[in-house]
Amino acid sequence: MHILIVEDEAAIADTLIYALQSEGFTTTWLALGQAALESVRQAEPDLLILDVGLPDISGFEVCKQLRRFSEVPVIFLTARDGEIDRVVGLEIGADDYVVKPFSPREVAARVKVILKRVAPRDVSNSAAVLRYFGFELDPKRVQVHYLGQPLSLTRHEFKLLNVLLDQPERVFSREQLLDGLGIAADAGYERNIDSHIKSLRAKLRQINASHDPIQTHRGLGYSLKCGR
Ligand code: CA
Repeated sequence: MHILIVEDEAAIADTLIYALQSEGFTTTWLALGQAALESVRQAEPDLLILDVGLPDISGFEVCKQLRRFSEVPVIFLTARDGEIDRVVGLEIGADDYVVKPFSPREVAARVKVILKRVAPRDVSNSAAVLRYFGFELDPKRVQVHYLGQPLSLTRHEFKLLNVLLDQPERVFSREQLLDGLGIAADAGYERNIDSHIKSLRAKLRQINASHDPIQTHRGLGYSLKCGR
């Protein structure tokens, strides 16, 4: 497993490199955000550890640009409380964050948790193809079609749809959906479910604008309901 560390302070990077290599990870260290984007474009690592305060562009900006072409898991390194608020808001699509000063061993432990969570075998408990009112989702091949057309989804959108399709018509709370995504529930992450649902709906609308199969249940959550 290859971990890319983007951190401008050599001392911090060193402790991370040491902790991760002791756990058997391969590491690459970069100090600039632009270089990190280039690097991910050329060869996607298995996970990115990304400092928020970088000398060229901020870690937030790196993550934002990254998400246009990559779903690689990201752990933010943050220095200040103000930064944490933005990270947990998760508009930027991070998977986790740690606050400086941190224990490198704890970071290595979180890396392992996230890599386990995103492993393809975790996408669904069952590998059977799910079919429901125009949806055809293949968990093994991580492919989904809607009304015969392929859907290009992010990792989180795919898992979300997988959970909903697994039990059509069941109302899932945001917490249950987060659970399906393998994310620990807290206030910030719950808002994040709404944004994933929003982007998923937009993609479904491009295929069929006249019907929204994802139902919002006020104060409860979401369900998938395709019949009239
Ligand atoms: Ca820094």
